[in-house]
Amino acid sequence: MNDPKSGKEGLNVWIDPKRCISNAKCTTAAPGIYVLDEETQVAEIADWEGATVQQLFAGARACPTQAIIIEQYGRRVYPQILTPMFEAPEPDDD
Ligand code: SF4
Repeated sequence: MNDPKSGKEGLNVWIDPKRCISNAKCTTAAPGIYVLDEETQVAEIADWEGATVQQLFAGARACPTQAIIIEQYGRRVYPQILTPMFEAPEPDDD
């Protein structure tokens, strides 16, 4: 993972390079905030100081692989953690 950014509105934001597929959805959703590293092609936060909370979340929501992970005040806020399904869901009736 590249260096996590922290401090703004209690946020910690980082990008998991194992999940980043370099498709630039985050850079489109939050231009100038997220950029792709020229060498690794992994997304990184280019403008932490200038980023708004909304921009940071917009980039995270745009990521199809949920590579951008956000905590706020020490708790995970994105992506949300889902409870596992322990049994197969019932098939739809229709
Ligand atoms: S949207 Fe996700 S997978 Fe795509 S470049 Fe950004 S962090 Fe990587």
